[in-house]
Amino acid sequence: MEALAQALIEAKKQIGLCSVCFHLSADPVCELCRNPNRDNTTYCVVADSRDVIALERTREFKGKYHVLGGVISPIDGIGPEQLTINSLVRRVSKDQPKEVILAISPSVEGETTTLYLGHLLKPFTKVTRIAFGLPVGGDLEYADEVTLARALEGRRELD
Ligand SMILES: [Zn+2]
Repeated sequence: MEALAQALIEAKKQIGLCSVCFHLSADPVCELCRNPNRDNTTYCVVADSRDVIALERTREFKGKYHVLGGVISPIDGIGPEQLTINSLVRRVSKDQPKEVILAISPSVEGETTTLYLGHLLKPFTKVTRIAFGLPVGGDLEYADEVTLARALEGRRELD
């Protein structure tokens, strides 16, 4: 039991944050940032490393990530300076990606963060946000109006 606890402590010590995107990484620069096959022209901004893992599972996104380390939440004392927003702006102004996708959960804090980032990044590049819609298996009549409004807003033409 003790050996296991020690091993967990050691493992935790070795996991740090990528110096480029702030995703969890055992190395100074994470695997995703080092991968030459990833598309350098699209960045996806998320609140948390767990979001990177979730998006990677979809295999839909081939670009680079930026992990904020949370969302702006004045009540919890989290302002832009507590997050990796300065690094993000520096990265975007330097690398000039063609598009930055904001993939932040649609809570009140998430909305604030999305709007704030949009305002900061628009001078440098095209800024988009992911569409939020109905969960698969969800019933239209039971969806709350914010979700339904978002789903409508994020509609696209049938291909
Ligand atoms: Zn990285």
